[in-house]
Amino acid sequence: MIEKLIGLLDWIYKKKCYFCKSSFECVKMCSKCYDKLSFRLFRPERIIEGANIYCAGNYTKELQKLIRGLKYHRQKDLAHYLAKFMYEYFEKLNIEGEFEIVPVPLHKNRQKKRKYNHMELAAEEFSLMSGFSVNFDIIKRVKDTKPQYRLTRKERLENLSNAFEVDKYKYRNKKLLVIDDICTTGSTFEEIIREFKKNGICDIICLAAATPL
Ligand SMILES: [Zn+2]
Repeated sequence: MIEKLIGLLDWIYKKKCYFCKSSFECVKMCSKCYDKLSFRLFRPERIIEGANIYCAGNYTKELQKLIRGLKYHRQKDLAHYLAKFMYEYFEKLNIEGEFEIVPVPLHKNRQKKRKYNHMELAAEEFSLMSGFSVNFDIIKRVKDTKPQYRLTRKERLENLSNAFEVDKYKYRNKKLLVIDDICTTGSTFEEIIREFKKNGICDIICLAAATPL
């Protein structure tokens, strides 16, 4: 019933911009609102265990609404705009070579609750734009970790310790581009990089859509 209602509401509202409610362009995010997203500098935000960590944008009102809408409010169409923003940033980095896109995985309990992993949707859109393939099976989240936002950096690392498991047989000898929505302390990326390295996979870069720093 709820699904049907959401479907109906989506149908009514799909002609309107989710951000400014204008129906002028008949899209989910109009160009005026998209242009409000701002890039950060085109350089690594930090380097963890030899892997570059990039953050595409500042966590402003629009980017926050874009991420939250996609993540919590079932606005799946927004994946396109998030991926577009990340891809435009990525292109400006001029990094050579082919990558395989790896979205940060959710634990199966959380994925069941939310019905989908928003970063998988963004990865699929990023794949269409870049021509890179996606790899959803190479890493799994095996620990149902607590939400990170109220934890200190030390607590985050403890919370995430051994949270991921890599299946090295799913590695296809391509460089990995790990993508996530928000990078705060970098502890999620750090734990993922460590887990890959433990399995002999070292050619990795990480890209978050936003950072509140
Ligand atoms: Zn708009």
